Amino acid sequence: MKIFDHHIHMTSRTTDDYQAMADAGIVAVIEPAFWMGQPRTHVGSYEDYFLSLVGWERFRAKQFGIHHFCTIALNPKEANNPDIAEGVMELLPIYLEKESCVGVGEIGLDDQTEKETDYFEAQIQLAIDYELPVLIHTPHRDKMTGTQRIIDMVNAIGIEPGRVLIDHNNEETLPLTLDSGCWAGHSVYPHTKMDEGRMASLVKQYGTERITINSAADWGVSDPLKVPKTVQVMREAGIADSDIETVVWHNPVFFFGQSGRLDLGEHGERPRVDQSELWEGNSVLRGQAPVVEPAE
Ligand SMILES: [Zn+2]
Repeated sequence: MKIFDHHIHMTSRTTDDYQAMADAGIVAVIEPAFWMGQPRTHVGSYEDYFLSLVGWERFRAKQFGIHHFCTIALNPKEANNPDIAEGVMELLPIYLEKESCVGVGEIGLDDQTEKETDYFEAQIQLAIDYELPVLIHTPHRDKMTGTQRIIDMVNAIGIEPGRVLIDHNNEETLPLTLDSGCWAGHSVYPHTKMDEGRMASLVKQYGTERITINSAADWGVSDPLKVPKTVQVMREAGIADSDIETVVWHNPVFFFGQSGRLDLGEHGERPRVDQSELWEGNSVLRGQAPVVEPAE
């Protein structure tokens, strides 16, 4: 079964992770632009980050047979930093045009401040202007209120809900999100947010329509294999393989395919590995023999 982890911060992960993900059936990933764990001190570090998302990280994924796409945005935490927020907004039009950028994100609310809502609305407008789908982060604290506010803003701005994916849902927020007409993402985490068994129960209860699963793995306590692990638990719970595949492959392919840029080859096969390739003169190898798969 093919798996698409549509929310994972691979910049924070190792090549061992890429190898294990490929072995577990992950064929494609999306890396949303986000917070680096400490505040960026100037716009330039943001720009280099965007460049790595469309450049080096995409190359690194392909070296292990995984398609890499990204979504680009000012993240909600740094929307509160006036020293860089405006500068990042000026960069966005350049990076929203990149061929591997398949959406605006992750935007959303964190502390639910006025600045966050201002930049949220401005970036929804960018998504409309650039005809891109949107990936929305919901807050960890006061999640119900935050999710409702997000849905209210989405409705007020008038973006088509079918082009909006609200992420990090739980049992409480899922009915709200589905009722809004938006897509509902779930981040399966060790200990928090959502786990494999709870996710299987949600799919049994609500079905597969507009429902997706991701790992949201990053530099914190998280697990890049959570989507394949959830596939296993859903199987054990008696969910049909065709339904599982809808949730972990066809749904994210359809949703982000709305960008017109989700190039997965003719049949969604994984990219051919050629570790003799270089990126701007640099290799992922450290003297190992390159793996080179034969061309078809
Ligand atoms: Zn994230």
